[in-house]
Amino acid sequence: MSRTLDQRLTQELAELAAADLGRLHRLLESPCARVVTVDGRQRINFASNDYLGLAAHPALARALADGALAWGAGSGAAHLVSGHLQPHAALAERLAEFTGFPGVLTFATGYLANLAVTPTLAGRGDAVFADKLNHASLIDAMQLAKANGATTQRYPHADLAALERLLAASPAQTKLIVSDTVFSMDGDLAPLPALHALAERYDAWLVLDDAHGFGVLGPQGRGSLAHFGLPADPRILLMGTLGKAAGVGGAFVAGSALAIDYLRNKARSYIFTTAAPPAVACALSASLDLIAAGDALRANLFARIAQLRDGLAGLPWHLPASPTAIQPLLVGDNAAALALARRLWENGLWVPAIRPPTVPKGTARLRISLSAAHTEADVAALIGALREAAAG
Ligand SMILES: *Cc1c(COP(=O)(O)O)cnc(C)c1O
Repeated sequence: MSRTLDQRLTQELAELAAADLGRLHRLLESPCARVVTVDGRQRINFASNDYLGLAAHPALARALADGALAWGAGSGAAHLVSGHLQPHAALAERLAEFTGFPGVLTFATGYLANLAVTPTLAGRGDAVFADKLNHASLIDAMQLAKANGATTQRYPHADLAALERLLAASPAQTKLIVSDTVFSMDGDLAPLPALHALAERYDAWLVLDDAHGFGVLGPQGRGSLAHFGLPADPRILLMGTLGKAAGVGGAFVAGSALAIDYLRNKARSYIFTTAAPPAVACALSASLDLIAAGDALRANLFARIAQLRDGLAGLPWHLPASPTAIQPLLVGDNAAALALARRLWENGLWVPAIRPPTVPKGTARLRISLSAAHTEADVAALIGALREAAAG
């Protein structure tokens, strides 16, 4: 490697480190669960997206193992070549029934699922309108649509008036409104009924990313649309991830039979990638059973959310309104957020500090992630440690 190529990387990494933006893995020596072993020490885990505590559930591990024994380790090809096995089809059917949409495609990751929708539906002459705080994968999907010739505009977070002005001024043939349903670093909900009404008024597609709502919100955990009582409207494309509340991995896009048929034929991130191992689909079908029967899990999760929010009232850090498992404690400064996370860590609590570019500059935060697996004592310990840290 030439010296100059290496020099450039070394210099950029040094700049990141100097701005407290360096990134390292933490190595887990135990499964993802309520308590994890890291560097030989036990920590209460407030850092995962395993909102229902299913990631290490024995029923899912068993379904995965049985699925592998029955169907082998790999799918062997992309879905449209020879990689679409019976467990994939069964999972898609279950997801269609669960979400109420007639069409479903499954993906190996949510990132790929998001890349399948926006750039496939929007190209030359079309326009994409995206919430400023959308997940990175939706932003990348928007950039691909832009490369295909679409115009792309980002509206201020949840600002419906700004969105409506953009929609009204747009001469585009096809319009897409694209939003997270639950914002991944803030935990707040998008105003879905109003977004849906705008999509109807301006005859736009409504592309929704329910990564943090699926399994958690709505009756039986059916997701954010069900939470708001919105129908499975054919103008909606609903993405859900299956590595968060569902505890396994993968994702789906649900929509009308026509829209899903179109994506199956056109979406490059569906066509040009190997299908997930069939055993993963077996584990996910088992996970859907646990999610649908998981009212007790959700009740515990929402009790922990209320306990945390009550317990943190009056602290010097802002806790924005969030009705979901994601509770952001805004610290502001990168180094201060890292110091607070380190202090909790020393108290046996693992809460990640989230810094730019994941969140806007000056809004570094602790992203407290609650789970149905947490006990009242776990959350009390976190509240106690934060109160102590605030006292100095
Ligand atoms: C996690 C996440 C994704 C990506 O899903 P993966 O399955 O992890 O690739 C997409 N959108 C949002 C909002 C997410 O939080």
